[in-house]
This record gives sequence, structure tokens and C-alpha cells, in this order.
Amino acid sequence: APILLWFRRDFRLTDHPALDAAARSGRPVIPVFLNDEVVRTYGAAPTWRLGLAAEAFAERLKGIGSRLTFREGRAAEALARLADETGARTVWWTRAYDPASLARDEAVKEALVARGVDCADHPGHLLFEPESVRTGQDGYYKVYTPYWRKVKDRDPGPALTAPTALQAPDGWPETDDPAIWGLGTAMNRGAAIVAPHCHVGEAAAQTRLAVFLRDRVEGYATARDIPAMHGTSGLSENLTYGEISIRSCWHSAQRAIAEGKRGAPTFLKELVWREFAYHLLYHTPRLITGNWRPEWDAFPWNEDAAGDDATAWKRGRTGMPFVDAAMREMFVTGTMHNRARMIVASYLTKHLMCHWKIGMHWFEECLIDWDPANNAMGWQWSAGSGPDATPFFRVFNPETQLDRFDADRTYIRRWIAEGRDDPDPCALAYFDAIPRRWGMAADDAYPDPIVTAAEGRARALDAYRGRDL
Ligand code: FAD
Repeated sequence: APILLWFRRDFRLTDHPALDAAARSGRPVIPVFLNDEVVRTYGAAPTWRLGLAAEAFAERLKGIGSRLTFREGRAAEALARLADETGARTVWWTRAYDPASLARDEAVKEALVARGVDCADHPGHLLFEPESVRTGQDGYYKVYTPYWRKVKDRDPGPALTAPTALQAPDGWPETDDPAIWGLGTAMNRGAAIVAPHCHVGEAAAQTRLAVFLRDRVEGYATARDIPAMHGTSGLSENLTYGEISIRSCWHSAQRAIAEGKRGAPTFLKELVWREFAYHLLYHTPRLITGNWRPEWDAFPWNEDAAGDDATAWKRGRTGMPFVDAAMREMFVTGTMHNRARMIVASYLTKHLMCHWKIGMHWFEECLIDWDPANNAMGWQWSAGSGPDATPFFRVFNPETQLDRFDADRTYIRRWIAEGRDDPDPCALAYFDAIPRRWGMAADDAYPDPIVTAAEGRARALDAYRGRDL
């Protein structure tokens, strides 16, 4: 009987443990992708990018004599139906760790096992399973540095090679046409505006890693902090859809370290931040749902996601050039530089005192590299409410940050059109991307700050002082 191999955010052939096991089993394999109840909760950009990932992977599977079957519906029901149609008694997938996926996967297991279908999840999304990294007191880690020390010399095992062939079933099941699902429709700027910035699929991800290691890893430790530079790997977009495995990245980083590439140790440490985010999320799912430190529930956050301040922030109209440039970069490219993410998050949660969840949700709507663990950890880190967080009183000043990290204002010029005779094409692309109802035009005057760096800082610190946080 065939094995159903359910692909979710793991669109690759190389170093894919479930796929490797299925290929070695000698049994026919039916790869499937579902537009299920979890996919339907994703924001516009992640849904759109997920569709591209699945379609690119379908092509990749053809190269090893296989096919991706597309189905729609609640996962438990869709898989049960497919098992009935194909006679499959086995369903395998790559393990997920975020609360929504975990709940779905539990429901699937329960429903299928009751029908006599075996289910198993395989590793592959992480280097080390979250339960396997324990503190001296047999707990989980809440702080990155000790976590890093614990795992840095551990061996995640060798990366698996891609199977060269996958046995086909006697007949292929019927498949939906994913084009009619409209996975991209909420992302009306998708094809024209954001697509040129995407690197979709396994081959593109591997090239990206190779080029980074050849050209940029050497200078990574310093270049990674300059938003105007192309100094980082860009791999988050691929890692989040599993178009490359974290283990392949780890081994590449280790090789670069052995070759004496200067930035490679920093790169490895960054890869492990992703690992740490999943470790935290798995052990404390409230990383996504609420303040990790509950004492922050009493802080007077502004929770109005449609209020004037949050709206100005989302639209890149705060009057703080670093913040506005970054928010526009995200809207046009679907990504934002890490330094800029820290600055816009600090500005929203401290200068504007808006709840970090407003920012987390907007990122979830706009990022093609949206990752449930990294995003939630990044926001709680920035807001001060997380386990390993920057203290609230350390407020990033968006003006002095500009002097440090965009001294010649390249980044600002690239993304802000207002007040310029000859705006950069990127800055103009923003005005093509935004909905007309936002009522913004490139020849508007650039706004005054809704709150100045000094006022915002003073207000945030006033609210913070005297609380037991
Ligand atoms: P590189 O510098 O090349 O790093 C390589 C890889 O290491 C990244 O692809 C990523 O997987 C991992 N990594 C690097 N920095 C971090 C970090 N701070 N935390 C966790 N993993 C890291 N990252 C996402 O992938 N998705 C998100 O939704 C996301 N949201 C964020 C929100 C906020 C508020 C903040 C402050 C950070 C967020 N990050 C998120 C982390 C980080 O900004 C991105 O991973 C990074 O900018 C991606 O660019 P890169 O692939 O070129 O990274």
C-alpha cells in the first residue's frame, strides 16, 4: 500500500527525513499538499508565498518521477478521504511546533488512527528536537546564551541526500488545481510588486546559500547590521517554507568556520537563534498568544490596531525616517532588514506604546519570511515582555540609530520619496503597492513626527516607572 507524504512547510528533496524514509521503504509514495484549516489562518503575504513554494515543489517532484496532489478541506477529513481513495494505510509528515499546527496534527492523528491508518511525524524542521535540549535542572532554556553553549558542539547528524526517484502508485489520485484556491488573492500587490524580490524553491535556496558563503559570509559580522547593504543570507524566506534544511545551513556554516571565514561563527549563532525561538515556543506556546511575562498584562499598552498611531506606523507615515523606510521596505519586498525590525518594533511598543501584538500581526500579514516562532520571539524581545528580552528602559532612538547604521542615508533615500526631486524607483514602487484608500502620494509633504524621539522616550519611561516589571 502507498505512503501518503503530507508536505506542509518542508518543500525540498534534500535532507528531508520523512521523504528519505519513504523513498527507502520501497513502497509507492503519494506526496500531498493541503489547503487546510491552518493555512487559512495565514496572513496575505505568507499565504501567497506558500502557494509559490508548493507549486515550485510540485515541479521539483516531477524530476524524480513523482507528483504533488493538491487537496482542500480540514486536514483530518481530507487525509482520511485520500487514504480511502488510494488504499494508503500510512501517513507521514515533518513535525511542526507552533500551537495551531500541533492542534491540527493531533486531530489528524486521532481521526486516522481510529480508522486504522498509521501516522508518524519525522524531524526535519529543526536541528535538535525541543525536548532534547535540557538544562542542568532538567528544564527548558529561557535565555539564548546558555542554550547556545549547550548546543554549539552538538552534532545534528549528516544532511541526507535527495532521493533520485520516488516510486509512483499504480494510479495517481485526483488533484485540485491550486490556481483556483486563490492563495494569492489577498496579496493584490503580489505578482507585480513583491515577486521580483522572492527566491522561490529549493534550487534558488541552495544557490542563495552558496553565493552567501562565497561572497558575503566573510564580512557578515559587520555588514549584517547595515540595512542599506545586502550583507545577510536572505535565507529566512526559504527556511520558513523548508526549501532548504536548517541542518544543511548548519553544516555549511561549520565548513566556513573550518575554512577560517571571519563572519561564519556569527552566522552559525544566528541560525541557532531560530532554533532557540522554536525551543521557547514549543515549551511556552504563550510566546504567541500573550505576554511571556504575565506582569506585563498590567502595562497600559494601546491595543487599538486601527488607531491613528498604529495606522501611521503600518503605512510608513510616522515622520521618523528610519521607521517609515523600514515599513515601506516590508510592504514592497515582503522582508525587512533585522536591524530595521528591531527599530520599528521598539518604536511601536515604546515610543507609541502600542501592544507588540499589533506589530506581530502586521508582520504576519506582510512578510514572505513570516515564521511563527521567530516573529513572536522577535516582538517579545523588542517589547521587553519576553523571557530573553531587551529591557523596556533601553529605548532605541530612531535618529541616533540612523547615524550609526545608515550614516550616509542610503536606506532612507531608497525608501522615502516625499520631498525629493528625483525619488528612487524603490521609493516610488511603494506608492504603486499601497491601496488607494490609504490616501498617500509620492509628492505629499513628508509628515512631522507623530511623536518625537525625546517625547516618546519620556512618555514610555514614565509609564514604565513605578511598575514592578
Ligand atoms: P541572516 O542574518 O542571514 O541569518 C540567517 C538565519 O538565521 C535567518 O534566515 C534566520 O533563520 C536566523 N536568524 C537570524 N536572526 C534571527 C533572529 N533574530 N531570530 C531568529 N532567527 C534568526 N525572522 C523570520 O525568519 N521570520 C519572522 O517572521 C521574523 N520576525 C521578526 C520580528 C522582529 C520584531 C524581529 C526583531 C526579528 C524577526 N525575525 C524574523 C528575525 C530576523 O529579523 C530575520 O530572521 C532576519 O532578518 C532574516 O534575514 P536573513 O535570512 O538574511 O538572516
